Amino acid sequence: MEYICIKCDKKFPIHSNTWKCKCGGLLNLEYEKKPVNFEAAATSKDRSLWKYIAALPFEKEDCWRSITMGEGGTPLVLIDKNLYGKADYYMPTLSFKDRGAVVLVAMAKKLGKESIVADSSGNAGTAIAAYGARAGTKCHVFVPDSTSDKKIKQIEAHGAVIHKIPGSREDTAKAAIDMVESSNMFYASHIYNPLFWEGTKTYFYEVFEQLDGKMPDAFIIPVGNGTLLMGAYIAFKEMFSWGVINKMPKILAVQAENCAPIKEAFINNKSEVEPCKNKGTLAEGIAIAAPARGAEILKAVRETYGDIIGVKEESIVCARQKLAYKGIYVEITAAANYAGYLDYIKKYPELKDKTVVLPLTGAGIKSN
Ligand SMILES: *Cc1c(COP(=O)(O)O)cnc(C)c1O
Ligand SMILES: [Zn+2]
Repeated sequence: MEYICIKCDKKFPIHSNTWKCKCGGLLNLEYEKKPVNFEAAATSKDRSLWKYIAALPFEKEDCWRSITMGEGGTPLVLIDKNLYGKADYYMPTLSFKDRGAVVLVAMAKKLGKESIVADSSGNAGTAIAAYGARAGTKCHVFVPDSTSDKKIKQIEAHGAVIHKIPGSREDTAKAAIDMVESSNMFYASHIYNPLFWEGTKTYFYEVFEQLDGKMPDAFIIPVGNGTLLMGAYIAFKEMFSWGVINKMPKILAVQAENCAPIKEAFINNKSEVEPCKNKGTLAEGIAIAAPARGAEILKAVRETYGDIIGVKEESIVCARQKLAYKGIYVEITAAANYAGYLDYIKKYPELKDKTVVLPLTGAGIKSN
């Protein structure tokens, strides 16, 4: 298993602590995976994402066993006619980030890393801290100093060391990277480390299985840094190459209109993303003004003949209320996904008759 530069194809061993190529290119992951046997998976006693071990970068008996908390295997809940919500707020730390965090931390453990570094203002930091505690690794989490006490308390509860950094989200990332580069610590980054997507891709295997061996016509996917979206792209490519599906479902991506740099690039037919100014949004979990993987996200959406839209603040608040009236309580960021669906069916009325899955990415008690 190796990291490979997306620009110049240079390869780096997995234990090398490389997070970016000298040429500036970010890294993908290369390893040999076996196709998932979806029929066997459907009847597996293990309901967690680890039942897909054939296509994960671990052995059957491996260190993930002492780290897993049963993440994955979340229900599909009918929201409207033809629209399902995948309830990833059922996860151990109440967001879909557990899918990626468990894989990332298990690999750090396997590589014998005693300390890991993460930077996040939200759910990724919480998930890494929780799984870091499971693995018995020392965990440093860098957060912007504007991060709410509630989130900091949850991260600290797991024994992680908090580093509060003044300035922007990018300053926080820089501080984390400084620590990684001046030490031998593992950079457990949900943005730079492609191992994270090896976890998030299982979301799409699960949907396929839950819809009795069919993919929906489209997936609604929120995009900040694109960790769920990149998981989609990897899963679709794998399943296509295994002959399990013969066409990729559409990726219908959603950003908050007030911080939508990828949407901007998409509608202007650009292949790179220019950083934008964050005008402020309640959907703080997807408010990423300078997404590092912007070009890859654009490519993935275009390859599925998908689309990207921005949703307004009022629509996000209204969508959260609508979901709550259906018994579903999500954090504000996660309501953007339903707001996005409601805008998409206005834009494409025929979508109402198609099967669509949207993620219920985080639990309501995470935000006020
Ligand atoms: C992280 C997150 C997102 C968006 O994910 P990205 O990986 O940044 O694209 C959406 N909703 C919630 C609740 C999240 O925690
Ligand atoms: Zn390179």
